[in-house]
Amino acid sequence: MYNKESLKAEEFICHEEIEETLAYAEANKDNLALIDEIIAKAKLRKGLTHREASVLLACENEEKIQEVYDLAEQIKKDFYGNRIVMFAPLYLSNYCINGCVYCPYHGKNKHIARKKLTQDEVRQEVTALQDMGHKRLAIEAGEDPVNNPIEYILECIKTIYSIKHKNGAIRRVNVNIAATTVENYRKLKEAGIGTYILFQETYHKESYEKLHPTGPKHDYAYHTEAMDRAMEGGIDDVGLGVLFGLELYKYEFAGLLMHAEHLEAVHGVGPHTISVPRIKRADDIDPDVFDNGISDDIFAKICACIRVAVPYTGMIISTRESQAVREKVIRLGVSQISGGSKTSVGGYDHPEPEDERSEQFDVSDTRTLDEVVHWLMDMGYIPSFCTACYREGRTGDRFMSLCKNQQILNCCHPNALMTLKEYLIDYASEDTRKIGEALIAKEIEKVPNEKTREIAKRHLKEIEEGQRD
Ligand code: SAM
Repeated sequence: MYNKESLKAEEFICHEEIEETLAYAEANKDNLALIDEIIAKAKLRKGLTHREASVLLACENEEKIQEVYDLAEQIKKDFYGNRIVMFAPLYLSNYCINGCVYCPYHGKNKHIARKKLTQDEVRQEVTALQDMGHKRLAIEAGEDPVNNPIEYILECIKTIYSIKHKNGAIRRVNVNIAATTVENYRKLKEAGIGTYILFQETYHKESYEKLHPTGPKHDYAYHTEAMDRAMEGGIDDVGLGVLFGLELYKYEFAGLLMHAEHLEAVHGVGPHTISVPRIKRADDIDPDVFDNGISDDIFAKICACIRVAVPYTGMIISTRESQAVREKVIRLGVSQISGGSKTSVGGYDHPEPEDERSEQFDVSDTRTLDEVVHWLMDMGYIPSFCTACYREGRTGDRFMSLCKNQQILNCCHPNALMTLKEYLIDYASEDTRKIGEALIAKEIEKVPNEKTREIAKRHLKEIEEGQRD
């Protein structure tokens, strides 16, 4: 039954194996010899199995937890350097026929304003995002085959890529829409999407069915096998995630890693990213009714354990988290964050009046993109608007091998600095520009290869003279 090469993700991520994993982790949480062995294995930077990583997550020995945190921090530095990739969500439509009990878009919610962007409105929203400096978007939509069919999503993607802004185009559109068919995934691939993102919400099948009582999303197997269909449809970058707070976090953690193992075993490439959203207050949703909320400390521990378990997988934190929490987990392994986000349909171009609210959930980090960029640089990080990998076809396993060989520093670091330079010139406030220029001057000297470093310096000069990608 437990066979990671099983083509069926649903069979592989089975309840029995997760339960056995949790029992094994609980039995070994004080087994310091085993924990040392697992940490030593993690230090090889080749990842851990879900069982091994679950032991680290269960461990309560402060010294060992600190070792895991230190290792997570080091792995983050080795694989990603100090770059943080920036993106923004773009809500296209909140029409939805599902009954997800934690989401205010659920079909029975009659007092949320339902909206769907027209193509003109897509242009306005994207222009507003580009005016902020964003180059990379994640589009979001409810599931509604009448209001948001795949043709609508494809039309929006085409519109987004076609927009010519004075400072360049949107270079990467990631897509977070409901599970769909191989044929539709193929169409998304042909439309030139970046990552296909779909949160599992919970890997606990019984809970899943209760939390999704009605609508197409009720089908646990169809949802769980979505990434297999996406990969069959040619999409090689997929993003996993669970909504922490719905079920026991140790259960979700094991499920998430099993899902990653399954993708790697069957398709030869693991997930491109893992998202770690926590449930938030929303229109008719009180997060406290779900019993499984986790503290900020546990949240940080989860992030660190993911980092050491799947070192080559990007980790995403949204504005659901506060500045303080983001600060903590960025250090422990997060590689992508959103900034200046609005979770309402049309919210970038037209902030909504109080009585017409359509946002999906409350945002904790409400700072502007400029403030977020400034804050990152103050902490020594390089905010990156880079999408070069995607444009050069380095996706899926090609990206992974770059990452696994630690080559990312030689090529991503200078690219990130160039996109930061563009941002500083085109968008940043004076104060942000000042610290940004100093950071670039310091960081460019860290490019190990002399020839690459000289080419990057030349490009920085060209950007200063007005050239854009
Ligand atoms: N309709 C698509 C689907 O079903 O996967 C796209 C999903 S939605 C726009 C993006 C994600 O928001 C969901 O997958 C869910 O995990 C998350 N979400 C829903 N309600 C939330 C809440 N109250 N707080 C935080 N995140 C929430």
